[in-house]
Amino acid sequence: MKKLLPTSTVGSLPKPTWLAPPEKLWSPWKLEGEQLLEGKQDALRTTLHEQQLAGVDIISDGEQTRQHFVTTFIEHLSGVDFENRKTVKIRNRYEASVPVVIDKVIRQNPVFVDDAKFLRKQTDKPIKWALPGPMTMVDTLYDNHYKSREKLAWEFAKVLNEEAKELQDAGVDIIQFDEPAFNVFFDEVNEWGMAAMERAIEGLHCETAIHICYGYGIKANNDWKKTLGSEWRQYEEIFPKIQKSNIDIVSLECHNSYVPFNLLALIRGKKIMVGAIDVATNNIETPVEVAETLRKALEFVDIEHLYPSTNCGMAPLSRNVARGKLSALSAGAEIIRKELAL
Ligand SMILES: [Zn+2]
Repeated sequence: MKKLLPTSTVGSLPKPTWLAPPEKLWSPWKLEGEQLLEGKQDALRTTLHEQQLAGVDIISDGEQTRQHFVTTFIEHLSGVDFENRKTVKIRNRYEASVPVVIDKVIRQNPVFVDDAKFLRKQTDKPIKWALPGPMTMVDTLYDNHYKSREKLAWEFAKVLNEEAKELQDAGVDIIQFDEPAFNVFFDEVNEWGMAAMERAIEGLHCETAIHICYGYGIKANNDWKKTLGSEWRQYEEIFPKIQKSNIDIVSLECHNSYVPFNLLALIRGKKIMVGAIDVATNNIETPVEVAETLRKALEFVDIEHLYPSTNCGMAPLSRNVARGKLSALSAGAEIIRKELAL
């Protein structure tokens, strides 16, 4: 019988200190060439081991082979100039120096497919692989070629679809697209964002997920959250469109957030990765706290559709804290499983 409440992480996990300095984003590699390749593979082995020890059911690569969830994918595309950067405001929130689209974007070679094949060989458990979503990619660049966010998103959707199909053929069970931008640009989501997402998953037979959160636990995001008031209703703007889409799984931020749980009813029928771990604090949740969040979600999500998870990636946290949070996630899910068996 299929296990109920399968646990997973959203994506990134801290890297070993010998591979990249921990607790920061865009952390530079400490190794080069062949050593870097071997180091990344060792990190994949380590993250797999740690997830299994913590009782995680759906294994992710912990994003051990990439520096950043969006930038690393874009670095592998032609048509983007990383030398002459421009400053833009990302998600209307913080300024960053970003690469510039100067020509048609083309995926010359697979990006993560070899990494996925490597991880696939190490475990029989289901594997989930995250890719950036088209809209979030658009929002991370300056476009000097297409001069249309919609057109650029469509081109990204096509290259993401190529990568996703090869990841699927490499044995990945769930392909997840990270779209934090969906929580900011509601009109665009409804006009073309979701259509671009559908293009990215076109023809896939593995399961597909979309992750929509309030961002990593970095200062710019935490400051933004303080401006959102006592009820975060952003999901309400986009759920009706997602409900009608072909996406199988929706990954959301729930624990310690001000998202009203009843919004989950708007996507009833979809599988929902419920964020029961806060990634913006070093405090490790207790299993009882995790169980409380899952219980609240169960009022609006059918039990067979509930996937306990984290609010977002844990790359900015220390390894000890991340390990503790993963164990709490598993133990919290187990509390609910035991309750339901009664
Ligand atoms: Zn996230």
